[in-house]
Amino acid sequence: MAGVIKLLPDHVANQIAAGEVVQRPASVVKELLENAIDAGADQIKLIVKDGGKTLIQVVDNGCGMSTTDARMSFERHATSKLTTAEELYALKTKGFRGEALASIAAIAHVELQTRTNEEEIGTEIRITGSEVTEQQPIATPEGTAILVKNLFYNIPARRNFLKSPQVESRHITDEFHRVALAHPDIAFQYYSNGSELFNLPKTNLRKRIVHVFGSKTNEKLVPVTEDTQLVKVSGFLCKPEFAKKSRGEQFFFVNNRFIKSPYLHHAVMNAFEGLIKPNTFPGYFLYLEMEPSAIDVNIHPTKTEIKFHDDHSLYAILRSALKHSLGQFNVAPVLDFEKDPNLETPYAFKQKRAEAPTVEIDRAFNPFSGSVRPASGFKKATKEAWEALYLQTENQGATTSISSQMEEDPVQTGMFTKTAESESGARTFQYKHKYVVSSIKSGMLIIHQNRAHQRILYDKFFKELSQQNTVSQQLLFPLSLSFSKTDMNLIREIRSELIDHGFLFEEIGEEQLTLNGLPIQITEGEVGIVIDELIATRREGATPSFSTTELLAQSMCKAMAIKTGAQLDIASQQGLVNDLFACSESGRSPFNKTVYVVISENDIDNKFN
Ligand code: ADP
Ligand code: MG
Repeated sequence: MAGVIKLLPDHVANQIAAGEVVQRPASVVKELLENAIDAGADQIKLIVKDGGKTLIQVVDNGCGMSTTDARMSFERHATSKLTTAEELYALKTKGFRGEALASIAAIAHVELQTRTNEEEIGTEIRITGSEVTEQQPIATPEGTAILVKNLFYNIPARRNFLKSPQVESRHITDEFHRVALAHPDIAFQYYSNGSELFNLPKTNLRKRIVHVFGSKTNEKLVPVTEDTQLVKVSGFLCKPEFAKKSRGEQFFFVNNRFIKSPYLHHAVMNAFEGLIKPNTFPGYFLYLEMEPSAIDVNIHPTKTEIKFHDDHSLYAILRSALKHSLGQFNVAPVLDFEKDPNLETPYAFKQKRAEAPTVEIDRAFNPFSGSVRPASGFKKATKEAWEALYLQTENQGATTSISSQMEEDPVQTGMFTKTAESESGARTFQYKHKYVVSSIKSGMLIIHQNRAHQRILYDKFFKELSQQNTVSQQLLFPLSLSFSKTDMNLIREIRSELIDHGFLFEEIGEEQLTLNGLPIQITEGEVGIVIDELIATRREGATPSFSTTELLAQSMCKAMAIKTGAQLDIASQQGLVNDLFACSESGRSPFNKTVYVVISENDIDNKFN
């Protein structure tokens, strides 16, 4: 059986490796930016077209390559950064596998122009599918320009798998953010389809964050510093009151490399506990410096996870450092850079004492006192169906009904709010500020209050928003909202649909949005959260099957539905039950989650066997 095992031809091996290194255009961007940084560049330009599907170009002013090195750089395991396995553990550079360029060249059209400062004349190389098609001397500035065209041109399955240019662009922007935030001392420019998205000068970290996420960010930042034997922590947190419904501005860097760490994220959330509302996320930009020997860099290509040898201590140090700075920030405003009038904390804000954040639960709030409760619009058929659910209960007497037992119990535990008679004569009570429980014909009904209200609001908003003439309420004073540039781009993408739905835009600036009218369903206080939700959904990208009307109704119901934790008085509990069963799809939330469960009498009886 000789000659069965063969070595894979190089171009095949490269294509396979490419599958690991290059998942999408953003992976190419990451590799190319990292190479430019490793080359010592302090000016890097990124140019993409169509979300990187047609073109990705990175131009740097780094050390460049000699003709031989330029040719070698596309060979697999060609790297100038590592010669022994031990060095792997003391890495200072980003790349070390010598795989990226070879992989990219296997699945795209690549053009490289490069020159070192020792040479007068540089080198140009063109490669297609791992084959060098052209090599020649060329006059070019010192540094390297690399152009990647038609990614996955020879792997149609992969190419078809790519998402829309907008979605791919967002991934690229995420990658760009990570690199730009890790290297404030490098100037970056980023162009997409011919327009400049970012032009970031060399600066310090605080200004870099502000340049990336918008000038309003400055006043949100709280510095963090901690120096221990294990780790040096620096960076910034966003003040608790700016916590957002959507994730997005959470960054960890270890030794200047972006990493993802659910464990450390947990430490941050822990430090913020009690300061932010449930289901909101604080922004953070945290930089850890550690001995390379204290971590395991996962050498799997493109993975951003790493392992810390002493993760428990790290968790504790991080949490206490963050708590410390959160506790301090309202005492004295800290400015860590020379005065720049554009970035200075506004005077009014400096004077203001930060107030202790409070949990905003309005106990008197009755979500059904307004227009939500369809007193007259209640569908008769549904009402009958609902009453039928209850019918038998009354005849069965109080003993089989948990809610009745509760009422008979003179000691009302704090866990239950008062029981009540509903319109149809059945009783409801609230359990743990989370569920509304009621006794029905076939057993016990447990309703998830948040999801139920989402369903009710969704149906209402969807119906109203779908009507041709959306009604807009004019605002007395225009309302200004700030967003990051990236988020503003998302808003621009759906601007005309938003206008159709009653958002009247006065102005859409770089980072600021001025509204002078809102759909009647949304109050001024809510519009920020609604738009945040909308952005979060758009950012996730996987929603082509939803119309903007649906997305908007989803965002509105998510932002405005009564939350888990809210206490509901009896009228509200009953309103919730009645309104829910007037919806045609009462069993599923707009996000396809279970709204209520019924525990049958049989199941309950069986428990007593
Ligand atoms: P790695 O970065 O893991 O070493 P790459 O395939 O990304 O592997 O790059 C291979 C080699 O090509 C690098 O080690 C470096 O010597 C050279 N190289 C790549 N990009 C640049 C650049 N922009 N400037 C100078 N040298 C570069
Ligand atoms: Mg590299």
